[in-house]
Amino acid sequence: MLTTRPRGTADILPGQVEKWQYIEEVAARVCREYGYREIRTPIFEHTELFVRGVGESTDIVEKEMYTFQDRGQRSITLRPEGTASVVRAYLENKLYAGPLPVKTYYIGPMFRYDRPQAGRYRQFHQFGIEVFGARQPAMDAEVMALAMDFYGRLGLDDLELHINSLGCPACRNVVRERLQQFFRPVLGELCPNCQGRYERNPLRILDCKSNRCTELALEAPTTADCLCPRCREHFEQVQQYMRDLDIPYVLDKRLVRGLDYYTHTAFEIMAPGIGAQSSVGGGGRYDGLVEACGGPPTPGIGFALGLERILLALEKRGKLPVVQAGPEVFLVAVGDRAYRESFSLLARLRAAGIAADMDYQGRSPKAQMKYAGKLGVRYAVIMGEEELQRGSVVLRDMAAGSQRDIPVGEVIGALK
Ligand SMILES: [Zn+2]
Ligand SMILES: [Zn+2]
Repeated sequence: MLTTRPRGTADILPGQVEKWQYIEEVAARVCREYGYREIRTPIFEHTELFVRGVGESTDIVEKEMYTFQDRGQRSITLRPEGTASVVRAYLENKLYAGPLPVKTYYIGPMFRYDRPQAGRYRQFHQFGIEVFGARQPAMDAEVMALAMDFYGRLGLDDLELHINSLGCPACRNVVRERLQQFFRPVLGELCPNCQGRYERNPLRILDCKSNRCTELALEAPTTADCLCPRCREHFEQVQQYMRDLDIPYVLDKRLVRGLDYYTHTAFEIMAPGIGAQSSVGGGGRYDGLVEACGGPPTPGIGFALGLERILLALEKRGKLPVVQAGPEVFLVAVGDRAYRESFSLLARLRAAGIAADMDYQGRSPKAQMKYAGKLGVRYAVIMGEEELQRGSVVLRDMAAGSQRDIPVGEVIGALK
């Protein structure tokens, strides 16, 4: 136990972490260019927030949350997703009192007690954005454009953007009735899960992965068939903006998001070739959520993208850049006096912004050179008794295998 991490977690080791930093940097840069600012909320919240904000009858709340009592007998939950926390922070800090829309993004770990599989963990990471206070269809288009821009900059240009409209609550009532009508004659043939959904939320039957349900749902009415004139207009405008931006998309009437407060645009991004679960992220409009969490009626929209799955897709396609994360320069010292001088020179190199390191194991000069080779440094700066007396060092280009003498005072200049 002491040397085994909990199932579904991962250590992100040096060598691997640079890939994460790279993705995080791309995300931060895209967000800045689109006018989104980072928000950091707690890793845990009151359980009630997720029950309300994610939805009582969802798999997340019913089966997947890490919930515990703290020492003050409060029910606490490790956040299973990011939206509810950001909504809470928006309300608690009265961000609605400032200029709208409020455009935020987050990157961080989420927790779900799920069955671990390739690219799926119990502690996983998401990059997400949330926007509050913008009702215009152009905002829906911006949110999707940002997601696709992010993927594009990473080099993932073979992804498919699926979009749909879920309409407004009035549209949802229409589709709900029509779905119940449609499925009534075959109710007994639906999977047990979907028989429960039939009353609670028949829309989610369209989302079922079971073969028989998929078959039965083939001809079922969808939200897109039941949109009221205003919702249809909104969706048409969103699509017009997407065409204006030249962002290809697939109209996917089967795409649903199960919760009542999801409205209008819903989207999902698929990556071919990373396994059966090919979604790398999704999002949509949730105009009812802020109100459901106790706030004023506020339009909201966002997405969440899974970083593990993105990393997997990048690795599969060989799209990860090689990052030189170790030191660039290694100082090799021969003898005690040279070691002391080198140690001071090391500090000066670092102060000049040069990533440098030296030996702390008492290695022989030969072993120091070998270690420098293992670190993959570009240069070695060799100092011995002889060089000390001349006030110089040997600068060795590790790749070329060539070296030359230079005065100590010129090392920084030469390396730069
Ligand atoms: Zn409507
Ligand atoms: Zn089913």
